[in-house]
Amino acid sequence: MLQLNNIAKSYQAGQVKCQALSGVNLQIKHGEMVALCGPSGSGKSTLLNICGLLDLAYQGELYFDGEHLHNNAHHCMLLRRQQLGFIFQRFNLVPVMSAYENVEYPLLLNKMSAATRRKKVLQILDAVGMSSFTQAKPECLSGGQQQRVAIARALVHQPRLVIADEPTASLDSVSAHQVIELMKSIGKAQQTTFVIATHDSRMSLHCERQILLHDGQIQSGGDRQCVA
Ligand code: ADP
Ligand code: MG
Repeated sequence: MLQLNNIAKSYQAGQVKCQALSGVNLQIKHGEMVALCGPSGSGKSTLLNICGLLDLAYQGELYFDGEHLHNNAHHCMLLRRQQLGFIFQRFNLVPVMSAYENVEYPLLLNKMSAATRRKKVLQILDAVGMSSFTQAKPECLSGGQQQRVAIARALVHQPRLVIADEPTASLDSVSAHQVIELMKSIGKAQQTTFVIATHDSRMSLHCERQILLHDGQIQSGGDRQCVA
């Protein structure tokens, strides 16, 4: 699904250069649920942004489904819209939109018909247990409920890959447990691949593989360099 060859990324903050990632080699198989672990500042979000085709300014090679992405911004935008879903720590729902509208949005971007949109949105809001809150705005929902809507939004267009950055970090144990179970069950039904940055053992222990990052390098769980 994803292959990273010798990925490096540095940030320039004024005179100071920060090497956020170096020599990252990683292969993620279709349908895998992978946890990216490591202390704060170890490069989890940086690596996730590269895997999610959000950050195209890196060194090294990235293959998506066997295709070398030559940092082509337009192509990456289309892949993000059609084949990727995103879940964030702070939910990132659009505040002026209802739960229904938030979940419908990726389908609108993908130009689905009104009837198909309605069917898919209601179906997935039901799957995440949010059928009774379709018209609620995010501010009226608890953190756990917002994250369940965000999971529905990330998965409604049946993406091949979902990127999640600390999806349980803002949640109490009960909500975190629900969120993990939903990601697993809907992901399994749709054969979704997940890459999840987390320092929450409640989350990482549910993943099939734990990749440990330290100071921008993979300490364990990665791969030697491989050729696509
Ligand atoms: P994590 O998600 O594991 O906490 P990050 O990927 O956010 O780690 O950060 C990795 C390193 O890159 C840290 O040293 C961080 O300070 C630095 N960094 C991240 N984003 C930026 C940025 N936009 N500008 C400068 N430095 C950054
Ligand atoms: Mg982070």
